[in-house]
This record gives sequence, structure tokens and C-alpha cells, in this order.
Amino acid sequence: MALKKSYVDTLVIGAGQAGIAMSEHLIQADVSHLVLERDRIAERWRSQRWDSLVANGPAWHDRFPGMTFADVDPDAFAGKEQVAAYFETYAANMDAPVQTGVEVTSVVRNEGHPGFKIETSEGTLEAARVVVATGPFQRPVIPPIAPRTEALTQIHSSEYRNPGQLPEGAVLVVGAGSSGVQIAEELMRAGGRQVYLSVGPHHRPPRAYRGRDFCWWLGVLGEWDAEAMKPGTEHVTIAVSGARGGNTIDFRRLAAEGMTLVGMTRSFDEGVVTFEPDLAKNIALGDANHLSLLDAADAYATRNGLDLPPDPEARERLPDPDCLTNPLSTLDLDDAGVSAIVWATGFSQDYIWLNVNAFDDQGKPQHQRGVSKEPGVYFLGLPWLSRRGSSFIWGVWHDAKHVADHIATQRKYLAYHADAQSQGTPADVERTI
Ligand SMILES: Cc1cc2nc3c(=O)[nH]c(=O)nc-3n(C[C@H](O)[C@H](O)[C@H](O)COP(=O)(O)OP(=O)(O)OC[C@H]3O[C@@H](n4cnc5c(N)ncnc54)[C@H](O)[C@@H]3O)c2cc1C
Repeated sequence: MALKKSYVDTLVIGAGQAGIAMSEHLIQADVSHLVLERDRIAERWRSQRWDSLVANGPAWHDRFPGMTFADVDPDAFAGKEQVAAYFETYAANMDAPVQTGVEVTSVVRNEGHPGFKIETSEGTLEAARVVVATGPFQRPVIPPIAPRTEALTQIHSSEYRNPGQLPEGAVLVVGAGSSGVQIAEELMRAGGRQVYLSVGPHHRPPRAYRGRDFCWWLGVLGEWDAEAMKPGTEHVTIAVSGARGGNTIDFRRLAAEGMTLVGMTRSFDEGVVTFEPDLAKNIALGDANHLSLLDAADAYATRNGLDLPPDPEARERLPDPDCLTNPLSTLDLDDAGVSAIVWATGFSQDYIWLNVNAFDDQGKPQHQRGVSKEPGVYFLGLPWLSRRGSSFIWGVWHDAKHVADHIATQRKYLAYHADAQSQGTPADVERTI
């Protein structure tokens, strides 16, 4: 379908939650714009998540301020299709100018006049400004240690759909963040196969404590608003789940139910995988994080005189399983009957099409709260864009507000320039040059 416009003040690229939030704030700021999406609105929620995925936060939390989920209890966890439908409805309700099925293939700054030239799968357009909302998790990353063999089925977590997709036999899930741990548990519960879970450094907040979901606790404790990662936590993932109504991730429970926990995956050599000797340390880090949140929550409740039910069970710990006290250092994949590996090892970003001066020397977007160093180029939805909540549903909405404010302010400067020039007094013109 041909492009709806050949010029637009602000082009938003991507119609996930970030692009939709951006559109809402641009509408409110009266900025003419277009949102281009190569697939469908909230496509990643539809086709790059496993079938049973539900939101990690309850429906009262994981949403935009302006609309509740019509079909999900506020304390329940919306399914991935419900999340996608939510954003579609949200966009329709505000009549967001979204054009789907259009991929942006190149953005370059104009020479000698302001704005950008944008190539798309449906033709060319120009824009004064560009908001890049193409996602925090774009390109699946499988580390180079992955064995090069046809004998194993190997998929990234973004390709995993359900247990039936994998061949019979044991499976190794590498990575125990929210994706890896949920996929490993689903595979184990489906029965009929041994599941090995390679566990790295992680945080594992309680799903709920003293009657409040962890999203609430992180909110009142100011943790969602943290502006930067705590030093040393750059490689620490978070393990939470809303699956089956929401439970605290407890690696000892998973092991008691039959899962084999192993340390981080170090290498593969002739059918033998070697694990780091770090399982106990990684589990201890998760435990410490868990307990520290309980302590902070208790202190907050006491300080504020909150009448919340006690929750001593949250501090109980199952005995250490054998796989934790005597961890495997190697595993012969054939002997163990491993037929598949699921790599839940995260994502990188891809800006090869964005030919502007908005990156640092590592190729990472360089910006302040989304305002890049290239005037007129903005990023939205990136992890830690302004704070911990930035890549999450509710967090991106607030970042979009800031970006829209910045755009509106810049437009005021330009309007002043245009006004001053049309008045034509030499002093005014001089002042705006
Ligand atoms: C497994 C998983 C579970 C998650 N669960 C939660 C959760 O429960 N709660 C929560 O708050 N967050 C969750 N997140 C984090 C985050 O909310 C999602 O990653 C979300 O999809 C990010 O939204 P976004 O709009 O920033 O990016 P995306 O959803 O990635 O949207 C970007 C859009 O841009 C489009 N696009 C990309 N390149 C181009 C181009 N060149 N031209 C045109 N269009 C383009 C894509 O098709 C896509 O639709 C989860 C993430 C993952 C991976």
C-alpha cells in the first residue's frame, strides 16, 4: 500500500507499545505524525513470544494509564494475545495515524536543509524528526559457543512456541531469566523429558509478598525509577513469571520437581558441554536479592504503618537439591539423550538502516532520556532509557511523554524563527541565525 504521506513533521518507526505511546503524546502535543510499522501493531507480542506467555506484571500494572484491560481481572496476568489486542484497541480508540505493512529501510539526514529522508518498502518520505521505537529486544542472540551440529535442534527463546515443537528427548535451556526459566518449567511440566537449566546470575523477587505483587513493591520502594543499574549488576537477569496465576521463581522447587540445574554454559566440545562452577554462587545471589526485597518491604510497611498480613512462608527455603550440592561440571549430550537446546540468551539491537550520527563508538544509541545527540533523532523503549521501567509497558508511556515534550519545545523554537523571519526586522532575523 502506498505511503499515506510524503512529508510528515514527526515519523515514528515501529508500532509496538513504544510507538503507540509516542503517538498518544504527539496527538496531545498537536504534532502531526505518522507511525510506520513493518508488520502489525504489537507484532512482537503476537509472533515472537511463546504460545502460553502471559505478562510478567498484573493487568492493573502492565498497562497504559488511560485504559484498563477489558477482559482481564486487574490482579491477573494478561495473555500475549490480550496484550497485543490491548495496544490495537488503544491505537484505534485515539485514531492513531499508524500505517502497517511498511518497513523503514533507511534514514539519512538531509544535506543543506533540515530533516531526514526516509526510504521505506513502499517509497520515500521526508520528516523533520524521527522517533526510533523499534524495540528493546530486536535481534535474537545465540552465543558463539553454540555447537555447530545438525544432530541437535537449536532454537532461540524468541522462536520457542510450545513443548510439541521440540523433538523427543532431553533438552538443555541456556539462560534462566524470565524467558528461560518459564520455558524450562513448561517443558518439564509437559512431561516425558529431562530438562537441564543453565542458571547464571539473577535476581528473583517474590511474585507477591504480604499481599502485594512485586510490581507494587518495586514501585513504592522506588526501584522502577532507578536511573542506572547498580554497579556489578550489568549481567544479572531477572527471573519472574505470571504463568499459572503467578508464582515466585524458586529454583530449589524446580529441582525438587525434577529439573536439573547446572551452572552457566561455558563450552561445547565433541558432544560434551562444560558448565561453569558457579551454580551455588548464582543461586545464592538470587536468594540474597529475594531476601533483601522482603526486608525492604517489611521496613517500608513498618515505617508507613501499613496493615499488611505477615508472610513468613516467603522466607522459607526448601533443602538444597543434589544438583546444587553436587553440580554437574560436564554433560555428554548423547549419553544424557539431549536432542535440543533452547538459547534464552537475550537480544541485541540492529540499527544498520539508521544512517545518522546518533551512536557512540560501540554502535550503541547515544542519548539523554531518548533525545539523541543527532538533533531530530529520538529513541524510545530501550532498556534503561531513563530508568529501570523504560522498556516495560507502563514505563515507556512516561518516557514517550518526555520525548513529546522535547519535540514540542523544539517546534516552538522553530516557530519563533519562522515568525521572526516573516516580521523581517534585521534585529530579529539576526537573533535567530
Ligand atoms: C518474552 C518477553 C516477555 C515480556 N514481557 C513483558 C511484560 O510482561 N511486561 C512488560 O512491561 N514488558 C515485557 N517485556 C518487555 C517489553 O514490554 C517488550 O519487549 C515489548 O515488546 C517492547 O515494546 P516496544 O514497542 O518498545 O518494542 P517492540 O514490541 O519490539 O516493537 C517494535 C516494533 O517495531 C517494528 N519495527 C522494527 N523495525 C522496523 C522498521 N525498520 N520499520 C518499521 N517497523 C519496524 C517491529 O515490527 C515491532 O512491531 C517482555 C519482553 C520479552 C522478550
